Amino acid sequence: MRKPHELSRCESVAHQNIFNARKRDTRRELIPGWVKIAQYVANTPSEGPYRRFALWTQGCSIGCRGCCNPAMQDPDGGEVMEVTKLVDIILNTQGIEGITLLGGEPFQQALPLAKMAIAVREAGLGVMAFTGYTLESLTKQGKAAHMLLEETDALIAGPYIKERGSSKKRWIGSDNQKVHFLSSRYKNCKEFQRPGQSIHLSFSDDAIAITGFPDLFPV
Ligand code: SF4
Repeated sequence: MRKPHELSRCESVAHQNIFNARKRDTRRELIPGWVKIAQYVANTPSEGPYRRFALWTQGCSIGCRGCCNPAMQDPDGGEVMEVTKLVDIILNTQGIEGITLLGGEPFQQALPLAKMAIAVREAGLGVMAFTGYTLESLTKQGKAAHMLLEETDALIAGPYIKERGSSKKRWIGSDNQKVHFLSSRYKNCKEFQRPGQSIHLSFSDDAIAITGFPDLFPV
């Protein structure tokens, strides 16, 4: 067998792609197949740029004072869902550009969410995530967090600090939180520069889901 440096350029690229595919398959086998979720809204314009599948994970131990989703902190709440089922639901949703992970704390379930993110990105969707951790602290959290960061295009990072609450920047709840573009996908997306917040109401047979910035909707 020829060594990689002896291959033609096309062969070499193909060789690299096979190597990358094998690497990804190996990673999939290592990841557990269940995720604890609080809720999802299949198609909303309020949780990131374009229209997105928004997934709220269940469980968060960060404990920000003034957290707008306290019911999602309890790791025993919510519902357990198989990652493959979740991926099927996402990929069967029409008209979305990507997914957004919110919480709860997505990075406290980083392994199954990384598996889900790999599958949806392979289908061409973008991944945006909100986290109560800073990017610096996530980079010290180990392999699982690294895997999810690797599959995230845009990250909004930092705890919610009530005293620094702000509705001036889109998708930012308090002004200590930072946007990190971890791939080029949204780097030039003007939606991130636009000021102001929005909410979106979606109706099903037995419920109304409000997504976006809840302070705009005093209930
Ligand atoms: S990180 Fe999010 S879910 Fe967790 S306590 Fe803070 S605001 Fe609430």
